[in-house]
Amino acid sequence: MKKILTVLECKMCNKKYSSNIIVELNLPDDKEYISKVKDFSIYTSCCPLCKKDNFIYFPINIIDEKRKFALLSDKSLEKKYKDYKVRIVNNGMELVEKYQIFTQHLDEQVIETINATLLRNLKIENKNINLQYMYCSGKTNNKVNFSNPSLSDIIQIDYKAILQLEKVLKDKNLLIDNNLLPKTKELLYNMVEERLREDNTNEE
Ligand SMILES: [Zn+2]
Repeated sequence: MKKILTVLECKMCNKKYSSNIIVELNLPDDKEYISKVKDFSIYTSCCPLCKKDNFIYFPINIIDEKRKFALLSDKSLEKKYKDYKVRIVNNGMELVEKYQIFTQHLDEQVIETINATLLRNLKIENKNINLQYMYCSGKTNNKVNFSNPSLSDIIQIDYKAILQLEKVLKDKNLLIDNNLLPKTKELLYNMVEERLREDNTNEE
């Protein structure tokens, strides 16, 4: 684990105080801190002056030596992890998303496709709501959870649909990345829904 001593400004009393903040977690040694990354409590520090909790976001890197992945908030470290699967993350939610994908053996491209599709299909009247991030908050039973932090709702996708989408992507030899048009991603996902419906009809 790496920590740095930094000066924070309390949001409650506006006074400044020094605190040791975590900037890097090394797995498997720091495994116990992962739950704090997942529920964002790792970004909370207690002001020694007014004793109130502050939520202050600071970038954290997660390095997994055994599974060979590096989730980096600090882009400059990229060169250091040449043999690793490296992903640059821009915020705490992306950090959790990538961690979940890598440790639950989900397909990154599939998750990306579903994210884009769900985002597009969500009909939100209030345009001020930030819909930028949907993230995979974990797998329970045969469902994969997608959360929207600004709406606090969870959308569950059948794991079977994810496997099917993975198959479609492979069949078509498609590489999905962020540059792919949302419309194309939506079409793909619709195809999968279609196939699943067919499967269910055949089973009946
Ligand atoms: Zn304070």
